[in-house]
Amino acid sequence: MKKVVMKFGGTSVGTGENIRQVASIVTQYSKEYKITVVVSALAGVTNKLLEIACQAKKGDEKLVKDFTNELLQKHKEAVESAIVSKPLQKKVNQRIEEIIAELGKILTGICYVGELTPKSKDYVVSFGERLSAPIVWGAIQNNNLETQCFTGKEAGIVTDSNFGEADPLMDFTVHLVRERLEPLLEKGVIPVVTGFIAANQDGIVTTVGRGGSDYTATILGVALEVDEVWIWTDVDGIMTTDPKLVTTAKLLPQLSYQEAAEMAIFGAKAMHPRALGPVSKETIPVRIRNTFHPENVGTLITKEPVADAKQVVKAVAMIKNVAMLNVNGAAMVGAPGSYTKVFEILGRNNINIMMISAAASEANISMIIKRDMVSRAISNIEIALSGLGGLVSEVTVEEDVAVVAVIGAYMKGNLGLASKVFAIVAKKGINIHMIAQGSSELNISFVVKEKDGIEVIKAIHEEFSLDKA
Ligand code: ADP
Ligand code: ASP
Ligand code: MG
Repeated sequence: MKKVVMKFGGTSVGTGENIRQVASIVTQYSKEYKITVVVSALAGVTNKLLEIACQAKKGDEKLVKDFTNELLQKHKEAVESAIVSKPLQKKVNQRIEEIIAELGKILTGICYVGELTPKSKDYVVSFGERLSAPIVWGAIQNNNLETQCFTGKEAGIVTDSNFGEADPLMDFTVHLVRERLEPLLEKGVIPVVTGFIAANQDGIVTTVGRGGSDYTATILGVALEVDEVWIWTDVDGIMTTDPKLVTTAKLLPQLSYQEAAEMAIFGAKAMHPRALGPVSKETIPVRIRNTFHPENVGTLITKEPVADAKQVVKAVAMIKNVAMLNVNGAAMVGAPGSYTKVFEILGRNNINIMMISAAASEANISMIIKRDMVSRAISNIEIALSGLGGLVSEVTVEEDVAVVAVIGAYMKGNLGLASKVFAIVAKKGINIHMIAQGSSELNISFVVKEKDGIEVIKAIHEEFSLDKA
């Protein structure tokens, strides 16, 4: 029997009814495949957990109490419509009550100490998946299949201690996951594993980054040597652009790992940016499919896309919630290692640089970072300024920007493509604030004001006839 990992995203498990649909997909495919299920938190729950963690830090105990009550209500409602059997409902509800009681204690603790570290933040957000997994487990069990529920930690996923964006220690993880899950698969049991959350070597809870359940799925896929990883979501697959922004977006039936990763990095939420790393090494195919239209084929991601998928420009994407950081200093001109010093400060403070552009005059470097990292970036560069020996004279920020990326593996060496892209933007009278093209030439990316982003995306989508793909 073939093996697959199936990951169901937040909207796929957003309500009890949707969870029933998930259970019915699993039940249907369990006749042909040995399945490992990975689940996200119920849609919106992770965001809410992040918000309440910040509120708790301010000491608002009443808010915490209201929040945990609401959360309990929401999950109990999901249980009621996802699971028919009353005894099973009771069992799952009990589990949910225990988990929420634990969450209440943690949040109250944060209220008292008034401190939220990256470590405690990961612990708080881990509750979203800890709460959804038992419901999915119950719904599958309800269909008379044998199933067992695990957290990422219990399944054996061990990461580094980079809280919030942890990466797996792959060799150790492969060893543990095989030891724990393989015997169950052999016996026909379906493991249901929480996405997004894992633990470091000391057993402390970590998370692998927002949207990280995709990553959990590919990590498990590699560990269990599956035939394919299926990512079930709320759209038909990866499309020429975000279908929620441009209604004429078309499905891309095949993509290479490189193209899909590029799209993920540049904002196609359909996939976590690091998720393709593990599977591309082992060449395990990934399919993106629609939970609500399982009859559709979806997008197949493999090493080499088929010939007719070799279109030059394949997609256009936008990253929002970013900011442009400009580091200026006449003294940087001709000073060896000046860039390195700035990058080192950002790296040391776990600030990821998403895009860089430096003028030949060397008096300025512009970098794109996540918007929520701006304060950390500026303050740390300022603190280090004295140590930079007058190298940097000024740090400025533009917060209302977005990155637009035009993506396709066959753009390489295609003369005139960049000028065509920029001409489209110019025709709209929109100003470009920064440009970057990596040497891989898989994408051309540039920065515009966020308010202009959608107009640019629509114009490029149309001019490159992506709506007719
Ligand atoms: P899930 O909860 O299943 O993980 P996500 O919200 O993370 O789902 O990702 C799916 C969403 O990604 C879609 O609803 C869609 O709006 C958005 N998206 C952005 N760009 C693209 C794209 N190019 N193709 C498909 N979906 C995209
Ligand atoms: N629940 C997590 C998030 O919202 C992980 C995921 O959904 O993939 O980021
Ligand atoms: Mg996602």
